[in-house]
Amino acid sequence: MANAATKGKLIIFSAPSGAGKTTLVRYLMSAMDNLEFSVSACSRKKRPGEVDGKDYYFMTVDEFKEKIKNGEFIEWEEVYKDHFYGTLRSEVDRIRNSGRHVVFDVDVKGGLNIKKIFGHDALAIFVKPPSVGTLKERLTRRATDDDREIATRVAKAERELSFADKFDVIIVNDDLEKAKRKTLKVVKDFLKK
Ligand code: ADP
Ligand code: 5GP
Repeated sequence: MANAATKGKLIIFSAPSGAGKTTLVRYLMSAMDNLEFSVSACSRKKRPGEVDGKDYYFMTVDEFKEKIKNGEFIEWEEVYKDHFYGTLRSEVDRIRNSGRHVVFDVDVKGGLNIKKIFGHDALAIFVKPPSVGTLKERLTRRATDDDREIATRVAKAERELSFADKFDVIIVNDDLEKAKRKTLKVVKDFLKK
């Protein structure tokens, strides 16, 4: 188990939007102690129910660009047009120095970048939907994005799926209970190492 004397490890979740990352991350955080979510900065609009500082640090595109200029990000991506997302160095340092392990929900490129920086201290998990059709159904049922936004996310999914093999672990999220069990097992095994 980590403590303040040992730096925490990093657990990265990446997937196409709608694959079930948020669902699995929330489950993992409720099932284990000693984990803390790395809250990203982002420039998209807040969805109903989202809380600033908890889901994201919401900011304008200009504020985000200022942080890029100041070197405040470990990685950042313009995931969709004018929707910037980035991992704050301050957030990761604060959590790791406390001895807790950092959990990330980032896009596929961001996930691979974080893995490259932290190597064996990081576990990169790819959450895979059973199919692109299922992904679209889930995004439609989630009802947090309009049709255009959903179409953009589905269009991006094909390419993102081609990166799955570059991750340490792939979790197929078809039966949710099975996916939860596998998530818990791979994370516990990794933290034991
Ligand atoms: P992401 O964070 O990857 O965009 P979410 O966790 O928000 O995805 O999941 C997208 C939608 O699919 C949500 O409405 C969620 O409740 C639902 N969902 C997640 N996992 C499953 C599953 N295994 N079977 C059916 N629906 C699921
Ligand atoms: P959403 O708008 O659905 O919350 O997130 C859109 C995408 O941006 C998701 O794939 C999510 O994982 C990704 N994302 C969230 N935070 C970050 C981040 O800090 N960096 C990167 N690269 N992607 C992120």
